Amino acid sequence: MTGPIRVAIVGMGKIAHDQHVPAIANNEAFELAATVSSRGEATGGVPLFRTLGELLADGPEIDAVALCTPPQVRYALAQEAIAAGKHVFLEKPPGATLAEVAVLDEYAAKAGVTLFASWHSRYAAGVGHARAWLAGRAIQSVSIVWREDVRVWHPGQAWIWEPGGLGVFDPGINALSIATHILPPFFLEEGTLFLPANRAAPIAALLNFRDAHGTPIAMDLDWRQTGPQTWDITVETDAGQLRLAKGGNELFLPAGEHKSDDHEYPGLYARFADLVRSGTSDVDIAPLRHVADAFLRGRRELVEDFHD
Ligand code: NAP
Repeated sequence: MTGPIRVAIVGMGKIAHDQHVPAIANNEAFELAATVSSRGEATGGVPLFRTLGELLADGPEIDAVALCTPPQVRYALAQEAIAAGKHVFLEKPPGATLAEVAVLDEYAAKAGVTLFASWHSRYAAGVGHARAWLAGRAIQSVSIVWREDVRVWHPGQAWIWEPGGLGVFDPGINALSIATHILPPFFLEEGTLFLPANRAAPIAALLNFRDAHGTPIAMDLDWRQTGPQTWDITVETDAGQLRLAKGGNELFLPAGEHKSDDHEYPGLYARFADLVRSGTSDVDIAPLRHVADAFLRGRRELVEDFHD
């Protein structure tokens, strides 16, 4: 492939508008060739289709799709795109089950196309430095606190409360994508999921993980936090404390603070271009595996109904 990668965005919701459209526009490796929107949401005069099938049958030539729908409908779209020989960028989480992601991975490999299971928080400004700083240090304990107001961040998103929508793990999986990137492998020991009686997904969770050395990793997820919002990971080490704040965008080290520009989605698209050009895939299910383990191993506690 010599020219830009012609990409179509499927699912023109919040993340497509906020991040994918500008990230594609600002990366010359890509050209936004079409959008697919069931509600007919267009952007900047780019050809619009109601379904992926219509785009593949009647639309302009494309090389890739970026699937920005909720996870529950992502497998069928990815399967359809791969069958048509297109490279696939999956928003996080890569699917509604672990097994469907494994099937897609194998299917993409057989079809010779790139499958990219993206984890945008891994590209947050402080995360790469945190990973480098922690390498080789003795970790004593980890605290992950992800507390936000669901009414502010997910207004009216019915899918997020349905099976496969993950509930509070929709943001919580971002924390897990960072933790699995900067820490040695760990596993869930025990936890509690707090479920509103009128919803299928948790509104909060308290989880206790350990790594192979027995290092405790405590995670506190809550969607009921009003006022200041918290997206922090604090790691105590033999060389002092590391703290990632603002979802990985600010890093505090014993020697001082490190900040740099937000480049999560530009970073993701740069990675996707590299994968397509090199004919490889990147499918890491570790964050989703921890969420699945929480649903497998966690105790359920009913809490009061939640209404938008
Ligand atoms: P959203 O605003 O609800 O948008 C999702 C879009 O997907 C809808 O607008 C709709 O677009 C399309 N869609 C197709 N089938 C659907 C269905 N059955 N139910 C609802 N929508 C359907 O969601 P979002 O916040 O953009 O999140 C989409 C994905 O991106 C999620 O996996 C989320 O975890 C991830 N993400 C979100 C954020 C964020 O800040 N919001 C950040 C990073 C990642 P059309 O009407 O155009 O078809």
